[in-house]
Amino acid sequence: AKNSGRNNFQFYSADMNAEAAQRLALETSLRRAVEQNEFYLHFQPQIDLDSGRISGAEVLLRWHTEHWGEVSPSRFVPLLEDTGLINTVGEWVLRETCRQFVESSADLPDDFVMAVNLSGRQFKGGHLARYIQNLLLESGMSAKNLELEITESLLMDDTELAIDTLRQLSALGVTLAIDDFGTGYSSLSYLKQFPLNVLKIDRTFVSDVTDDKDDAAIVNAILAMSESLDLEVVAEGVETAEQLAFLRAQNCKRAQGYLFSRPVPIEELMQLVDKRISL
Ligand code: C2E
Ligand code: CA
Ligand code: CA
Ligand code: CA
Repeated sequence: AKNSGRNNFQFYSADMNAEAAQRLALETSLRRAVEQNEFYLHFQPQIDLDSGRISGAEVLLRWHTEHWGEVSPSRFVPLLEDTGLINTVGEWVLRETCRQFVESSADLPDDFVMAVNLSGRQFKGGHLARYIQNLLLESGMSAKNLELEITESLLMDDTELAIDTLRQLSALGVTLAIDDFGTGYSSLSYLKQFPLNVLKIDRTFVSDVTDDKDDAAIVNAILAMSESLDLEVVAEGVETAEQLAFLRAQNCKRAQGYLFSRPVPIEELMQLVDKRISL
Protein backbone atom coordinates (compact mmCIF):
# COMPACT_ATOMS: atom_id res chain seq x y z
CA ALA A 1 0.00 0.00 0.00
CA LYS A 2 2.87 2.25 0.86
CA ASN A 3 4.33 1.66 -2.56
CA SER A 4 1.23 2.38 -4.54
CA GLY A 5 0.77 5.57 -2.57
CA ARG A 6 4.19 6.63 -3.61
CA ASN A 7 3.52 5.77 -7.22
CA ASN A 8 0.37 7.77 -7.08
CA PHE A 9 2.24 10.75 -5.83
CA GLN A 10 4.87 10.40 -8.55
CA PHE A 11 2.15 10.14 -11.15
CA TYR A 12 0.52 13.32 -9.98
CA SER A 13 3.66 15.31 -9.35
CA ALA A 14 4.90 14.52 -12.84
CA ASP A 15 1.66 15.86 -14.22
CA MET A 16 1.33 18.80 -11.95
CA ASN A 17 2.72 22.06 -13.18
CA ALA A 18 4.85 24.21 -10.94
CA GLU A 19 2.01 26.61 -10.22
CA ALA A 20 -0.34 23.89 -9.01
CA ALA A 21 2.41 22.48 -6.82
CA GLN A 22 3.03 25.85 -5.26
CA ARG A 23 -0.67 26.33 -4.74
CA LEU A 24 -0.80 23.06 -2.85
CA ALA A 25 2.18 24.07 -0.72
CA LEU A 26 0.57 27.44 -0.01
CA GLU A 27 -2.65 25.71 0.98
CA THR A 28 -0.80 23.43 3.37
CA SER A 29 0.82 26.36 5.14
CA LEU A 30 -2.44 28.32 5.14
CA ARG A 31 -3.98 25.48 7.15
CA ARG A 32 -1.47 26.14 9.92
CA ALA A 33 -1.27 29.91 9.60
CA VAL A 34 -3.86 30.74 12.27
CA GLU A 35 -2.23 28.63 14.99
CA GLN A 36 1.20 29.91 14.04
CA ASN A 37 0.06 33.52 14.34
CA GLU A 38 1.07 34.37 10.81
CA PHE A 39 -1.92 36.56 10.06
CA TYR A 40 -2.08 40.20 11.06
CA LEU A 41 -4.12 43.24 10.13
CA HIS A 42 -3.43 46.50 8.37
CA PHE A 43 -5.78 49.47 8.36
CA GLN A 44 -6.29 51.91 5.49
CA PRO A 45 -7.69 55.28 6.54
CA GLN A 46 -10.94 56.49 5.00
CA ILE A 47 -11.28 60.25 4.73
CA ASP A 48 -14.45 62.21 5.27
CA LEU A 49 -14.19 64.67 2.39
CA ASP A 50 -16.26 67.39 4.09
CA SER A 51 -14.20 67.65 7.25
CA GLY A 52 -10.91 66.15 6.09
CA ARG A 53 -10.81 63.95 9.13
CA ILE A 54 -10.20 60.21 9.16
CA SER A 55 -13.64 58.80 9.78
CA GLY A 56 -12.71 55.15 9.65
CA ALA A 57 -10.47 52.50 8.18
CA GLU A 58 -10.72 49.43 5.98
CA VAL A 59 -9.32 46.35 7.66
CA LEU A 60 -7.02 44.36 5.35
CA LEU A 61 -5.70 40.91 6.09
CA ARG A 62 -1.96 40.28 5.84
CA TRP A 63 -0.03 37.01 5.86
CA HIS A 64 3.63 36.63 6.64
CA THR A 65 5.35 33.25 6.43
CA GLU A 66 8.90 32.28 7.18
CA HIS A 67 9.08 30.42 3.89
CA TRP A 68 7.54 32.89 1.43
CA GLY A 69 7.74 36.12 3.35
CA GLU A 70 4.82 38.44 2.67
CA VAL A 71 2.11 36.82 0.52
CA SER A 72 -0.38 39.08 -1.27
CA PRO A 73 -4.07 38.76 -0.32
CA SER A 74 -4.93 38.57 -4.01
CA ARG A 75 -3.10 35.22 -3.96
CA PHE A 76 -4.10 33.75 -0.63
CA VAL A 77 -7.67 35.05 -0.13
CA PRO A 78 -9.00 33.10 -3.15
CA LEU A 79 -7.26 30.00 -1.71
CA LEU A 80 -8.88 30.60 1.68
CA GLU A 81 -12.22 30.82 -0.13
CA ASP A 82 -11.71 27.67 -2.24
CA THR A 83 -10.71 25.59 0.77
CA GLY A 84 -13.37 26.95 3.11
CA LEU A 85 -10.62 28.14 5.47
CA ILE A 86 -12.06 31.64 5.02
CA ASN A 87 -14.67 30.81 7.65
CA THR A 88 -12.08 30.35 10.39
CA VAL A 89 -9.85 33.16 9.18
CA GLY A 90 -12.80 35.48 8.58
CA GLU A 91 -13.92 34.99 12.18
CA TRP A 92 -10.37 35.69 13.33
CA VAL A 93 -10.39 38.96 11.31
CA LEU A 94 -13.66 40.04 12.94
CA ARG A 95 -12.48 39.09 16.43
CA GLU A 96 -9.10 40.75 16.02
CA THR A 97 -10.72 43.91 14.59
CA CYS A 98 -13.00 44.18 17.63
CA ARG A 99 -10.10 43.57 20.00
CA GLN A 100 -7.86 46.18 18.41
CA PHE A 101 -10.68 48.68 18.07
CA VAL A 102 -11.66 48.38 21.74
CA GLU A 103 -8.02 48.62 22.78
CA SER A 104 -7.65 51.90 20.86
CA SER A 105 -11.15 53.31 21.21
CA ALA A 106 -10.26 55.83 23.91
CA ASP A 107 -8.12 57.62 21.32
CA LEU A 108 -10.61 57.32 18.47
CA PRO A 109 -13.70 59.41 17.68
CA ASP A 110 -16.96 57.85 18.94
CA ASP A 111 -18.23 57.29 15.44
CA PHE A 112 -15.01 55.83 14.02
CA VAL A 113 -15.85 52.99 11.61
CA MET A 114 -13.87 49.82 11.05
CA ALA A 115 -14.77 48.28 7.67
CA VAL A 116 -14.22 44.51 7.46
CA ASN A 117 -14.29 42.48 4.24
CA LEU A 118 -16.58 39.43 4.16
CA SER A 119 -16.56 36.52 1.73
CA GLY A 120 -19.66 34.78 0.40
CA ARG A 121 -18.67 31.56 2.16
CA GLN A 122 -19.09 33.30 5.51
CA PHE A 123 -22.80 33.74 4.76
CA LYS A 124 -23.39 30.04 4.13
CA GLY A 125 -23.78 28.58 7.63
CA GLY A 126 -26.57 31.02 8.48
CA HIS A 127 -25.08 32.02 11.82
CA LEU A 128 -22.96 35.01 10.78
CA ALA A 129 -25.27 37.60 12.33
CA ARG A 130 -25.38 35.75 15.64
CA TYR A 131 -21.60 35.40 15.63
CA ILE A 132 -21.17 39.13 15.10
CA GLN A 133 -23.82 39.98 17.69
CA ASN A 134 -21.96 37.91 20.31
CA LEU A 135 -18.65 39.39 19.29
CA LEU A 136 -19.95 42.93 19.74
CA LEU A 137 -21.46 42.04 23.12
CA GLU A 138 -18.33 40.33 24.38
CA SER A 139 -15.88 42.93 23.10
CA GLY A 140 -17.92 45.98 23.98
CA MET A 141 -17.59 47.37 20.48
CA SER A 142 -20.70 49.21 19.36
CA ALA A 143 -22.47 48.10 16.16
CA LYS A 144 -22.23 51.62 14.76
CA ASN A 145 -18.44 51.24 14.74
CA LEU A 146 -18.56 48.22 12.45
CA GLU A 147 -19.04 48.25 8.70
CA LEU A 148 -19.16 45.06 6.65
CA GLU A 149 -18.02 45.00 3.01
CA ILE A 150 -19.59 42.44 0.73
CA THR A 151 -19.32 41.92 -3.02
CA GLU A 152 -21.95 41.94 -5.72
CA SER A 153 -21.36 38.26 -6.54
CA LEU A 154 -22.39 37.34 -3.01
CA LEU A 155 -25.75 38.99 -3.56
CA MET A 156 -26.19 37.39 -6.98
CA ASP A 157 -25.17 33.85 -5.96
CA ASP A 158 -27.74 33.20 -3.29
CA THR A 159 -30.09 36.13 -3.17
CA GLU A 160 -32.52 34.65 -0.61
CA LEU A 161 -29.82 33.77 1.88
CA ALA A 162 -28.07 37.08 1.30
CA ILE A 163 -31.21 39.15 1.95
CA ASP A 164 -31.96 37.14 5.07
CA THR A 165 -28.49 37.54 6.55
CA LEU A 166 -28.20 41.19 5.55
CA ARG A 167 -31.52 41.94 7.27
CA GLN A 168 -30.26 40.31 10.47
CA LEU A 169 -27.00 42.23 10.28
CA SER A 170 -28.81 45.45 9.53
CA ALA A 171 -31.04 44.88 12.57
CA LEU A 172 -27.90 44.70 14.72
CA GLY A 173 -27.09 48.23 13.61
CA VAL A 174 -23.92 47.52 11.67
CA THR A 175 -23.35 49.37 8.38
CA LEU A 176 -23.44 47.36 5.17
CA ALA A 177 -21.29 48.29 2.20
CA ILE A 178 -21.13 46.89 -1.30
CA ASP A 179 -17.51 46.54 -2.41
CA ASP A 180 -15.91 46.89 -5.86
CA PHE A 181 -19.11 48.36 -7.24
CA GLY A 182 -19.28 48.46 -11.02
CA THR A 183 -17.17 45.37 -11.64
CA GLY A 184 -20.03 42.89 -11.36
CA TYR A 185 -23.29 42.68 -13.20
CA SER A 186 -25.74 44.10 -10.74
CA SER A 187 -27.48 47.39 -11.32
CA LEU A 188 -28.34 50.00 -8.75
CA SER A 189 -32.02 49.14 -9.11
CA TYR A 190 -31.17 45.50 -8.35
CA LEU A 191 -29.32 46.61 -5.24
CA LYS A 192 -32.45 48.32 -4.00
CA GLN A 193 -33.85 45.06 -2.62
CA PHE A 194 -30.93 44.70 -0.20
CA PRO A 195 -30.58 46.70 3.02
CA LEU A 196 -27.33 48.43 2.03
CA ASN A 197 -25.95 51.72 3.36
CA VAL A 198 -22.70 52.28 1.49
CA LEU A 199 -21.42 51.73 -2.02
CA LYS A 200 -17.70 51.58 -2.79
CA ILE A 201 -16.79 52.61 -6.32
CA ASP A 202 -14.15 50.25 -7.62
CA ARG A 203 -10.72 51.74 -8.10
CA THR A 204 -10.59 50.79 -11.78
CA PHE A 205 -13.13 53.59 -12.39
CA VAL A 206 -11.47 56.02 -10.02
CA SER A 207 -8.03 55.56 -11.55
CA ASP A 208 -9.20 56.77 -14.98
CA VAL A 209 -11.72 59.32 -13.87
CA THR A 210 -9.65 62.34 -14.95
CA ASP A 211 -8.69 61.11 -18.41
CA ASP A 212 -11.40 58.70 -19.53
CA LYS A 213 -14.77 60.26 -20.34
CA ASP A 214 -16.58 56.93 -19.95
CA ASP A 215 -15.21 56.33 -16.47
CA ALA A 216 -16.02 59.90 -15.47
CA ALA A 217 -19.59 59.37 -16.71
CA ILE A 218 -19.88 56.08 -14.81
CA VAL A 219 -18.65 57.64 -11.58
CA ASN A 220 -21.01 60.58 -11.99
CA ALA A 221 -23.94 58.25 -12.66
CA ILE A 222 -23.12 56.13 -9.60
CA LEU A 223 -22.90 59.23 -7.42
CA ALA A 224 -26.15 60.69 -8.73
CA MET A 225 -28.13 57.46 -8.42
CA SER A 226 -26.69 56.65 -5.00
CA GLU A 227 -28.03 59.90 -3.72
CA SER A 228 -31.53 59.05 -4.80
CA LEU A 229 -31.19 55.57 -3.26
CA ASP A 230 -29.83 57.10 -0.07
CA LEU A 231 -26.51 55.28 -0.31
CA GLU A 232 -23.28 56.83 0.88
CA VAL A 233 -20.47 56.52 -1.65
CA VAL A 234 -16.85 55.71 -0.91
CA ALA A 235 -14.31 56.14 -3.70
CA GLU A 236 -11.46 53.66 -3.43
CA GLY A 237 -8.00 53.78 -4.93
CA VAL A 238 -7.67 57.57 -4.95
CA GLU A 239 -4.06 58.21 -5.90
CA THR A 240 -3.88 61.76 -7.27
CA ALA A 241 -4.98 65.24 -6.26
CA GLU A 242 -6.82 65.50 -9.60
CA GLN A 243 -8.92 62.44 -8.83
CA LEU A 244 -9.70 63.87 -5.41
CA ALA A 245 -10.72 67.23 -6.89
CA PHE A 246 -13.01 65.50 -9.38
CA LEU A 247 -14.67 63.42 -6.67
CA ARG A 248 -15.17 66.38 -4.35
CA ALA A 249 -16.68 68.41 -7.16
CA GLN A 250 -19.15 65.56 -7.73
CA ASN A 251 -20.10 65.59 -4.08
CA CYS A 252 -18.47 62.29 -3.11
CA LYS A 253 -18.32 62.15 0.70
CA ARG A 254 -15.73 59.53 1.54
CA ALA A 255 -12.49 58.32 -0.04
CA GLN A 256 -9.52 56.08 0.55
CA GLY A 257 -6.34 55.51 -1.42
CA TYR A 258 -2.58 55.89 -1.55
CA LEU A 259 -3.00 59.69 -1.89
CA PHE A 260 -3.97 59.71 1.79
CA SER A 261 -2.29 56.60 3.11
CA ARG A 262 -1.42 53.00 2.35
CA PRO A 263 -2.81 50.34 4.65
CA VAL A 264 -0.80 50.65 7.89
CA PRO A 265 -0.45 48.93 11.29
CA ILE A 266 -2.82 50.14 14.02
CA GLU A 267 -0.10 52.23 15.73
CA GLU A 268 0.42 54.22 12.54
CA LEU A 269 -3.32 54.56 12.02
CA MET A 270 -3.58 56.08 15.49
CA GLN A 271 -0.84 58.60 14.66
CA LEU A 272 -2.58 59.56 11.42
CA VAL A 273 -5.92 60.01 13.20
CA ASP A 274 -4.15 62.28 15.65
CA LYS A 275 -2.56 64.45 13.00
CA ARG A 276 -5.48 64.39 10.59
CA ILE A 277 -4.93 64.59 6.87
CA SER A 278 -5.01 67.92 5.09
CA LEU A 279 -7.09 68.03 1.91
P1 C2E B 1 -10.37 45.19 -1.67
O1 C2E B 1 -11.38 44.83 -0.65
O2 C2E B 1 -10.88 45.84 -2.91
O3 C2E B 1 -9.30 46.09 -0.92
C1 C2E B 1 -8.69 47.21 -1.48
C2 C2E B 1 -7.35 46.86 -2.06
O4 C2E B 1 -6.86 47.99 -2.78
C3 C2E B 1 -6.31 46.55 -1.00
O5 C2E B 1 -5.44 45.55 -1.54
C4 C2E B 1 -5.58 47.88 -0.86
O6 C2E B 1 -4.27 47.76 -0.35
C5 C2E B 1 -5.57 48.35 -2.29
N1 C2E B 1 -5.48 49.81 -2.40
C6 C2E B 1 -5.89 50.75 -1.53
N2 C2E B 1 -5.66 51.99 -1.99
C7 C2E B 1 -5.09 51.85 -3.20
C8 C2E B 1 -4.61 52.79 -4.19
O7 C2E B 1 -4.68 54.01 -4.05
N3 C2E B 1 -4.09 52.26 -5.33
C9 C2E B 1 -4.00 50.91 -5.53
N4 C2E B 1 -3.45 50.49 -6.68
N5 C2E B 1 -4.44 50.00 -4.62
C10 C2E B 1 -4.98 50.46 -3.47
P2 C2E B 1 -4.98 44.29 -0.69
O8 C2E B 1 -4.75 44.69 0.72
O9 C2E B 1 -3.87 43.66 -1.46
O10 C2E B 1 -6.25 43.35 -0.70
C11 C2E B 1 -6.66 42.73 -1.89
C12 C2E B 1 -8.01 42.08 -1.72
O11 C2E B 1 -7.95 40.98 -0.81
C13 C2E B 1 -9.07 43.01 -1.13
O12 C2E B 1 -9.56 43.85 -2.12
C14 C2E B 1 -10.10 42.00 -0.65
O13 C2E B 1 -10.89 41.54 -1.71
C15 C2E B 1 -9.20 40.86 -0.19
N6 C2E B 1 -9.07 40.93 1.28
C16 C2E B 1 -8.17 41.60 2.03
N7 C2E B 1 -8.41 41.40 3.36
C17 C2E B 1 -9.49 40.59 3.43
C18 C2E B 1 -10.23 40.00 4.52
O14 C2E B 1 -9.97 40.21 5.72
N8 C2E B 1 -11.29 39.19 4.18
C19 C2E B 1 -11.64 38.95 2.88
N9 C2E B 1 -12.67 38.15 2.63
N10 C2E B 1 -10.96 39.48 1.84
C20 C2E B 1 -9.90 40.29 2.12
CA1 CA C 1 -12.89 45.93 0.45
CA1 CA D 1 -12.68 47.17 -3.11
CA1 CA E 1 -11.05 53.12 -18.53
